[in-house]
Amino acid sequence: MKPRILIIYTGGTIGMIEDLRTKTLKPFDFSHLMENVPKVKMLNYEIDNIQFQPPLDSSDMHTTHWKDIARSITENYDSYDGFVVLHGTDTMAYTASALSFMLENLRKPVIITGSQLPIGEVRTDGEENLITALQIAAATDSFGLPMVREVAILFENYLWRGNRATKRSANNFNAFKSYNYPALAKIGLGIHFDTEALKREHSGEALNTHYGLDTDVAAIDLFPGISAGTLRHQLSCPSVKGIVLRTFGAGNAPTAQWFAEALKETIDRGVVVINVTQCGNGSVHCSRYMGGDLLSSLGVVSGHDITFEAAITKMMYLFGLGLTPEEVAKKLEQNLAGEITLNN
Ligand code: ASP
Repeated sequence: MKPRILIIYTGGTIGMIEDLRTKTLKPFDFSHLMENVPKVKMLNYEIDNIQFQPPLDSSDMHTTHWKDIARSITENYDSYDGFVVLHGTDTMAYTASALSFMLENLRKPVIITGSQLPIGEVRTDGEENLITALQIAAATDSFGLPMVREVAILFENYLWRGNRATKRSANNFNAFKSYNYPALAKIGLGIHFDTEALKREHSGEALNTHYGLDTDVAAIDLFPGISAGTLRHQLSCPSVKGIVLRTFGAGNAPTAQWFAEALKETIDRGVVVINVTQCGNGSVHCSRYMGGDLLSSLGVVSGHDITFEAAITKMMYLFGLGLTPEEVAKKLEQNLAGEITLNN
């Protein structure tokens, strides 16, 4: 039996061509992309595709598009061995994180990839990324089960857990990194999977896709000198239900009284606030310094070592389930899809 793979082409640089008038890159259609990768035929897989109309620069991605991707996977789940999502790199980590929460009980590979250079360019990284993503989507273990049973990002030399990855370079071919979780596979002459890192625990229940995503969330980046007026303005937006507070170091914030009062008023209004460090590597440790301790005493939830992308999409997902602020706060501290390391 040939592996059956469904490619979902959403757009991104991988399929872009240059607009002759403006000289900017714009998304182009899937047939152009495949014409530039004739080697795909050498894989001897059965490959079908679904194409976004129109294909997007991923800066235009919205939650409706995440739902479209999730729906395409869900409706075709039993007919394919794996799924490859072609996507722009700019917001790839957000899409990967969102899908990891939306596709509960996923047991097949959802491999997201794209490229830094368009597929039509001589030095493109798109050809290799696409072919490797297809191979990973088709890979099985010694029991014939899918090697990857989660949402992952394949880029150049690494396969990362989707909700642990961050775009870290606008220039390098190795554009993604996961600072707090090891690579699921290293790509060199061969594809070397790390079975310790790959998700293996599963409930045994059927795929359960959650389409509800609530976008009434916001993010606040702290910086030295932030004024009471700015912070209060940001915290007071009436429609916002949840805030990702991007803090210093191990989850620290100013200890000034006005700061504590502004946050307390917000939390008392029923807004959920999660503490996520601005550092790429490492975790929030609220009890290490006074500034972090103050935040937890006010009821700010620890984000542990979560990425910003996973924190904001996890909030959208949890509020989208219709949970109360207390329930959302509780679930934010639980590891739902491999996105946080507890007890670190
Ligand atoms: N702007 C592009 C996008 O995210 C960048 C890329 O694909 O690398 O769609």
